[in-house]
Amino acid sequence: MIKPDATAKGYIGAILQMINEAGFKIVALKMTRLTDEDARAFYKIHQGKPFFENLVDFMTSGKIVAAVLEKENAVEDFRTLLGSTNPQEAAQGTIRNKFAESISYNAVHGSDSDENAQIESDFFFVEEEVYA
Ligand code: ADP
Ligand code: MG
Repeated sequence: MIKPDATAKGYIGAILQMINEAGFKIVALKMTRLTDEDARAFYKIHQGKPFFENLVDFMTSGKIVAAVLEKENAVEDFRTLLGSTNPQEAAQGTIRNKFAESISYNAVHGSDSDENAQIESDFFFVEEEVYA
């Protein structure tokens, strides 16, 4: 998911290009806006953490781009392409190194397991959109 900070700053094209150039196939894509309820559900694992309310406010502050990506070893390789959650610790040339402004507003989300990738794909897309 490309987060509201990156969509607002016009980074959608550059980020999708980096994703393609890293060998990911984009199999589903949509621009939308999360409701408060959506954001709370998507990030429910972080409920109760000190940054949770700020995260919900941020994720509902503008449009996001949701994508389903395909690649061998996709979850791990995408996390590598993303860089660390805190952009100050993100490796040179990663998406967060280039486009994130802070640990809170960090440009892109990536699933952290195959199981969560399936859950998050289902969150945004029906099966026919992914496997058309
Ligand atoms: P990641 O997005 O790298 O998987 P997490 O799952 O730990 O990171 O956190 C989800 C999102 O919550 C982060 O991408 C970031 O937007 C926000 N976040 C995480 N940790 C913090 C923090 N310490 N302070 C502020 N926001 C945070
Ligand atoms: Mg995470």
